[in-house]
Amino acid sequence: MKVPSVTCGTHGKQPQTFVCVHIIESIREGEPKGFWWSRGPDGVWDAICDQCNSLSQDDFDKLGPGNIGVICLGCFEDAAALNEVELS
Ligand SMILES: [Zn+2]
Ligand SMILES: [Zn+2]
Repeated sequence: MKVPSVTCGTHGKQPQTFVCVHIIESIREGEPKGFWWSRGPDGVWDAICDQCNSLSQDDFDKLGPGNIGVICLGCFEDAAALNEVELS
């Protein structure tokens, strides 16, 4: 399955990825907040920050969809680099 794409102001047309809003903030502020990534069976990357990663699944689910945003894969890689995390 092809990953849906998103058009980014910095990186152009890229596959979309899902991250928590804190990672979006960390990109904007240039401030690392942790980066716990995974890749779904559909090839879609997602990542959450230290704070979200420390929550139980229940507490995380309570934050709802408003806690998650879409960014492009280029921004996702930038966020990983900011947190000195290697994607493999
Ligand atoms: Zn978070
Ligand atoms: Zn981007």
